[in-house]
Amino acid sequence: MFKKIEIVILGGGTAGWMCAAALARLAPNICSVRLVESDDISTVGVGEATLPQLKEFNDLIGINEADMMSKTAATFKLGIEFSNWGQRGNSYIHPFGAFGQSMGGVEFHQQWARANTGESLEAYSYAVQACRNHKFDFPVDSFGEVNSTYSYAYHFDAGLYAAYLRHIAEKSGVERIEGVVNSVSTHPDNGNIQSLMLASNQEIKGDYFIDCSGFRSLLLGQTLKVPFEDWSPWLVCDRAWAVASESGQALLPYTRSIAHEAGWQWRIPLQHRMGNGYVFSSQFISEDEAAACLLRNLEAPALSDPRLIRFKAGRYYSAWEKNCIAIGLSSGFLEPLESTSIYLIQVAITNLLKLFPKHKTDVTLSAEFNRLMDMEYSRIKDFLILHYHLNQRDDSELWRYCRSMPIPESLAQKIELFRWRGYVDSFSFGLFNLASWQAVYIGQGLSQAATDPFANNLPLSDARYQMDTLASKIRARVNLMPSHRDFIADYCPFRK
Ligand SMILES: Cc1cc2nc3c(=O)[nH]c(=O)nc-3n(C[C@H](O)[C@H](O)[C@H](O)COP(=O)(O)OP(=O)(O)OC[C@H]3O[C@@H](n4cnc5c(N)ncnc54)[C@H](O)[C@@H]3O)c2cc1C
Repeated sequence: MFKKIEIVILGGGTAGWMCAAALARLAPNICSVRLVESDDISTVGVGEATLPQLKEFNDLIGINEADMMSKTAATFKLGIEFSNWGQRGNSYIHPFGAFGQSMGGVEFHQQWARANTGESLEAYSYAVQACRNHKFDFPVDSFGEVNSTYSYAYHFDAGLYAAYLRHIAEKSGVERIEGVVNSVSTHPDNGNIQSLMLASNQEIKGDYFIDCSGFRSLLLGQTLKVPFEDWSPWLVCDRAWAVASESGQALLPYTRSIAHEAGWQWRIPLQHRMGNGYVFSSQFISEDEAAACLLRNLEAPALSDPRLIRFKAGRYYSAWEKNCIAIGLSSGFLEPLESTSIYLIQVAITNLLKLFPKHKTDVTLSAEFNRLMDMEYSRIKDFLILHYHLNQRDDSELWRYCRSMPIPESLAQKIELFRWRGYVDSFSFGLFNLASWQAVYIGQGLSQAATDPFANNLPLSDARYQMDTLASKIRARVNLMPSHRDFIADYCPFRK
């Protein structure tokens, strides 16, 4: 008879419970799942802005969207607004949607640069216009309609989302074990993890161990001693103060990222409060000054004292090592600028399901898992560094440092290609495609020296006409959308 693989998950934060719920719902005949967590060791308690891919994950495990949103005080997210990034006083939105559509066989920004109508690129993005007008509605599934050109994500209360997943996981057969792991034993021959020993002296054995222990990385980093690749020379922020405040006046359908002198501040609108934080570099500001800066820049009164979180940008060289797979902060962290951590948890879970192991460890599977995760991390790394590097701010050390720091060759090449004539690399797998790079390059003031010569195949007057028509269609359609606040009140009001 087939013996189920025994999976032990260490950690009950967002990573642990996402993993437990997914395994219990999607692989109930293949594995049994136990999850160990301790009420004495708190979760990181942040992680409230997501990416559109999370809807696929939720759908996959059978989550009802309106129910999940109402129980996690969630709001919709159509993108991120970056204020003061390229230079002080400017603002652009990185939307979950397209800027225009390709015209005359070339990408939209080529015609936009060529036509030089004086209209901002944002006028041609449905998602950006919805953000700017605080509107929300679901995209339609009808090719060619302006309101089919975007997707959406969520802002939610991270603690409530983990609790929601825990409920699903436990209902689907996951056994939760409360206790602090004091020591970990490994096999003397092959170095595999054998068991976790709890403070209560209970020993938890398993075939595979999923390390969701957060920044401690108790299994992958501390026990198996997988080395950490440090990316802090490029991503210099290493601290964050986080605090909840009362809600702001408007219920924005987007996250805000406001650059300050030594980092940036997030504002994440939930139904019952605003999530705030200041991500900063301790090289350029003291912890006390950063806390004061955050509190000074809240839109509404704080609900508690701010909490300090320390971190280092980078990731462990192999997230799957022997019979241990690290998922979440235990595998690496790339700072929250583009809300990519929960996405990386999701990708790790789906890759694990695709490469689900048998009882015996197999390095072919772990090598492929690690290759796929490397690719995701590297792309995100370049995209995040771009935000810091591409700035014209001269008012503080952090921005001067980031502008002149040596950047990875892969990113330098991308920037040069855009500068040359607006070339943007595209791929069909992973995060951050055309619209994302267009938003940041153009939003932070990088201009292209020339346009793609193929753009001239379309007469300039036609290009301008098509662009005007598109902008008017977007304006007219956005006017018909309900406000984000009304939409939420109707679809998923917060229920405790
Ligand atoms: C400042 C900041 C802002 C962020 N913002 C975002 C965002 O907007 N969007 C996004 O996608 N991500 C964001 N993230 C990342 C996000 O918070 C995490 O990816 C997510 O919360 C998952 O965390 P985790 O489950 O890996 O770890 P944790 O939440 O830290 O959970 C660790 C778990 O391990 C358990 N544990 C640890 N040691 C032991 C032990 N010895 N014995 C028993 N149990 C143990 C703890 O009890 C806990 O349950 C942010 C991170 C930071 C630092």
